[in-house]
Amino acid sequence: MESKIWLSTPHMGGNEQSYINNAFETNWIAPLGPHVNGFESDIQNYLKQDSHVAALSSGTAAIHLGLILLNVGKGDEVICQSKTFSASANPIIYQGATPVFVDSETSTWNICPEQLEIAIKDRINKGKKPKAIIAVHLYGMPYQVDAIHAVANTYDIPVLEDSAEALGSTYNSIKCGTFGDIAILSFNGNKIITTSGGGALVTKNIKLKEKAVFLATQAREKAVEYLHESIGYNYRLSNVLAGIGRGQMEVLNDRVSARRSNYEFYKESFKTLEELQFVDEPQGSFSNRWLSCMLTPSEEIREGLRLALEALNIETRPLWKPMHQQPVFKDAPKYLNGVSDDLFEKGLCLPSGSNLTEYELNRVISAIKTYFRA
Ligand SMILES: *Cc1c(COP(=O)(O)O)cnc(C)c1O
Repeated sequence: MESKIWLSTPHMGGNEQSYINNAFETNWIAPLGPHVNGFESDIQNYLKQDSHVAALSSGTAAIHLGLILLNVGKGDEVICQSKTFSASANPIIYQGATPVFVDSETSTWNICPEQLEIAIKDRINKGKKPKAIIAVHLYGMPYQVDAIHAVANTYDIPVLEDSAEALGSTYNSIKCGTFGDIAILSFNGNKIITTSGGGALVTKNIKLKEKAVFLATQAREKAVEYLHESIGYNYRLSNVLAGIGRGQMEVLNDRVSARRSNYEFYKESFKTLEELQFVDEPQGSFSNRWLSCMLTPSEEIREGLRLALEALNIETRPLWKPMHQQPVFKDAPKYLNGVSDDLFEKGLCLPSGSNLTEYELNRVISAIKTYFRA
């Protein structure tokens, strides 16, 4: 059997190890230190737009703190894109709030502006205005930023931009991770760059950044004794891991190019295969193509293909199962149009790592062509 081809694996650039060695040599083995500050400025310089970045232990922690900073609490409702990874929605529950799931549109697979407005109006009619909107740039494809933020502004509801999968993507030439009142990034092992585990909260308001760091470091007041006036968390990023992040930021643009060329290579290779559909970027959008995804004709074919590839030691995955289909969220209010259910049935994520070789890509392509006897 040929070696395993994974969906998405870490891809070190080369300098990460020397940043780590520096952390050891200087004994900054702690959840603070020069690499944490350096990593934050690397991200700020990359995102621009006067962003302030707080480096945290995970993207999930960043969403949790983001909701706290947006004053989401017990009994509140938060609108969340249904088609996403569960980490977008779980922190709503941590806060004792209720998620309200909203379906997607077909051009980006992300939260649909019409459904969003229907949901907001209906929640207001039922007596509760949503406290925040969590919109996600799924697989690196920017959501319809102008349309979504226009709806959010009309009803004066803040947007928490889940950019966990979209570092390196842009919308009208502006980097994803800078549109929300608060945005978050993830550096988990499968993301476009990784610190093995880590995340960041991004905001244009320096006070909010300071508050995020305060909450992430146990909410310790400025006093000699350990004085606490609020509940804190231990969510800061380790200086050792931030060192990995500094090395990864040096190669981020290369990683984006590599993932984008994977996508182009797949799309080009399957252009005569009518069964398979790829979704192009809408005008003004630039996707980092974190994962290369395609649509098959049906759930049966998607699953048949997935198993055929698995038998050849090639890992693929269905698109994220929508949150409104998850048993854990079965009682949550939802506003559906059928799009995310359809995408879940038909969609498959292909091996997408920036370190895939041409040989590996060709193995995937010929396996898929064989499946369709093309
Ligand atoms: C990965 C991911 C997260 C969570 O990030 P972690 O760093 O793994 O906690 C949140 N939202 C989306 C859409 C993700 O893909």
